[in-house]
Amino acid sequence: MRDDSRRRGNRSDRSERPGHGAPRAVVIGAGIGGLTAAVALHLRGWRVTVLERARSLEPVGAGISLAPNALRALDVIGLGDEIRALAAWQGDGGLRTPAGRWLSRTDAQAVAARFGGPLVLLHRATLLERLAARLPEGTVRTASEATLADPGDPGPLAVAADGDASRSPGGAGAGRAPAPPGLAPADTAPVEPPSPRPRTARVSTPEGELEAELVVAADGIHSRVRGVLFPDHPGPAYAGFTAWRMVLPAPVSSFAPHETWGRGLLWGTQPMKDGTVYAYAAAAVPAGGRAPDDERAELLRLFGAWHQPIPALLDAVRPDQVLRGDVHHIAEPLPAHHRGRVALLGDAAHAMPPTLGQGGNQAIEDAVVLAHHADPAAHAPDLAAYTRDRRPRTTAIARKAVASGRMIMLRAAPAVVLRDTAIAVLSKAVPSLMLRGFDDVAGWRPPQAPYASPASPARDRTDRAR
Ligand SMILES: Cc1cc2nc3c(=O)[nH]c(=O)nc-3n(C[C@H](O)[C@H](O)[C@H](O)COP(=O)(O)OP(=O)(O)OC[C@H]3O[C@@H](n4cnc5c(N)ncnc54)[C@H](O)[C@@H]3O)c2cc1C
Repeated sequence: MRDDSRRRGNRSDRSERPGHGAPRAVVIGAGIGGLTAAVALHLRGWRVTVLERARSLEPVGAGISLAPNALRALDVIGLGDEIRALAAWQGDGGLRTPAGRWLSRTDAQAVAARFGGPLVLLHRATLLERLAARLPEGTVRTASEATLADPGDPGPLAVAADGDASRSPGGAGAGRAPAPPGLAPADTAPVEPPSPRPRTARVSTPEGELEAELVVAADGIHSRVRGVLFPDHPGPAYAGFTAWRMVLPAPVSSFAPHETWGRGLLWGTQPMKDGTVYAYAAAAVPAGGRAPDDERAELLRLFGAWHQPIPALLDAVRPDQVLRGDVHHIAEPLPAHHRGRVALLGDAAHAMPPTLGQGGNQAIEDAVVLAHHADPAAHAPDLAAYTRDRRPRTTAIARKAVASGRMIMLRAAPAVVLRDTAIAVLSKAVPSLMLRGFDDVAGWRPPQAPYASPASPARDRTDRAR
């Protein structure tokens, strides 16, 4: 078995595993969500094992943008400032038409002032590396495909360490947040009847079975664990567009970061701290398509006549540097984000279209909220509280991402003219308009204070004003 965490990261960041009395957490999937959960649970005092089916932690997917909400979540595990330091966007940027006309403009300072911090675009590999470096050696097992053998049962009152029976699965749930319109409250979801005897969860691996007081299913959009826990759920659906991603050397002439919307087409160009450029594109086309020649040639056909720096970037890119993938999402929210002792997290729970750049951000939020509800002294996490905290927010953001995708991917010429005119006029009248629509997303704060150090178990606070 290969252990990727051994050869990665700064060893001085690592800490010892908690002792044998500590409860055990098994995390399935070493993506952004799984690794963040692993670090947060480790810092809370759980003995964590991460199982990753890939042979290494090399992620597919080029860059990822992290907004102030996710960066505040990363503050909880002591990583926020390290990632903020990678912010590359300075000065101007905004939304353009394919001919290059600016529909709305903003600048990095306005974003930071409004949301209390920068938007950071970084390599996915960098994020995974920095997360893995915070785990004790031996925590991450690669080439280890996991299967949920038994979701376990936390028992009737085990979750309520403070004696509050309303917080146990199926309890009365005093003080919970109201669900958004059209969304059934999480506790109307089918919940297992209380079992008189708590039971640990079990996970099968190629090396044998692991028992745990908590299983975190962070196994991505095609989560097999989700299929086991919610067999009637329809699973992911095509979001209506395909996406291309690439990391390139910066073009010769400087450029302002932009997103450009056409008719059923989108292109984005964003700088990264190491001097490279992350470019992405999308097209509203039927699922399953592939270019007859190569994907660079397809991009040239679709975007070659758009404004600079797009043609310059397409000149510079090699066909093998272009990643293409159809975009899927969970169109129907799950009835709950947990079952038994298993918490679903990130794309496994609520994969959303990338039109707000929030899928990974929400996985990071999930991870720290889960750790908040996982008091190691209780030996059973309060997963009903986790669902109550996360399901309304992630469902609302996923719906917003779908709506945003519909607007971006409009194809009919009159609708596109109307959209562009409305954006241009409104942005002129209210310059902060585009940012304002992001307030509820980027303004989120975690429920706990940063975990002080690996040695000291978390002292969670419930006050949200930091
Ligand atoms: C084109 C595009 C652009 C995007 N841009 C952004 C962005 O800018 N910002 C943002 O926040 N989000 C973005 N997203 C969304 C983001 O990529 C996902 O939301 C995020 O990666 C989800 O993380 P995760 O940890 O839940 O799942 P994943 O990253 O999918 O990780 C799941 C892991 O589980 C492993 N695994 C699966 N099954 C098993 C098993 N049985 N046993 C062991 N391991 C298993 C997989 O190998 C994988 O490593 C984008 C998505 C797309 C498609």
